[in-house]
Amino acid sequence: MSTKTLARITKPGTPHFVGDGFRVHNFIPGSSTMQEMDPFIMLDYNSKYTFAPSEIPRGVGVHPHKGFETVTIAYKGKVEHGDSTGSGGVIHEGDVQWMTAAGGILHKEFHEKEWSKKGGEFQMVQLWVNLPAAHKHDQPGYQNLRNADMARVSLPGNSGEVEVIAGEFNGRKGSAKTFSPVHLFNAKLKKGAKTEFSFPKDYTTAILMIEGSSKVNDAETVPQDHFAMFRRDGETFAVEALEDTVVLILSGEQLKEPIAAHGPFVMNTREELVQAFDDFNKGKFGFLED
Ligand code: MN
Repeated sequence: MSTKTLARITKPGTPHFVGDGFRVHNFIPGSSTMQEMDPFIMLDYNSKYTFAPSEIPRGVGVHPHKGFETVTIAYKGKVEHGDSTGSGGVIHEGDVQWMTAAGGILHKEFHEKEWSKKGGEFQMVQLWVNLPAAHKHDQPGYQNLRNADMARVSLPGNSGEVEVIAGEFNGRKGSAKTFSPVHLFNAKLKKGAKTEFSFPKDYTTAILMIEGSSKVNDAETVPQDHFAMFRRDGETFAVEALEDTVVLILSGEQLKEPIAAHGPFVMNTREELVQAFDDFNKGKFGFLED
């Protein structure tokens, strides 16, 4: 096994608001193309931000998605979700929501009502995972991955743990059902802990420093709120926590299919994209009340 080296470390850019409830730094595509980050087509990161109390929950009203999955990871704060299939619920701190938009869905994402009234620190990731062409027209789906049910691997010497959201770490499998091989972990490392991760060479692999800063491969320091992308030059990399740390680790097999994307629709051809807009405009994604 050879070392997977870092290609680049990206600092959080100027944030922008999604609706009025998500203040995000965009890391994917960021300075890359969707093709380079395949199968990850979007990553927005709401770094810690304090929202003032609000009687009217902030967020994003009814909007469509088609052709991929949205994965929402709540670190601080609570999000309430509802969609046109009738699914919905609250994403609590530590929970992950894995929504398969596939053939088309309408949903809305708001700060949870009671949380909104109090306000507070909010920190969240939304990752979009592309779907293989064969599944872009499937029925939509919804997985509510509660923190208490997550697969966990304790690290030696009480030095931390790895929460396995999807894929596998040290023989423990995450419960998320995915349509292509995807590994998604939260590594919670105590100061000084050092852990190795290993993924196939050609997988798209990156880390996001949610809390604290870490040293990668005994070489480069990745500060808090920074995103770091690996080369496809080896399998294994080491993360050493320079302070108590939470690192989001993502690695996925490339789909290697053409991408035709516009806004909330990600298809394989321009014709399919036009069709997606047409279907949406004709109300074929169902109905959801504001
Ligand atoms: Mn959405």
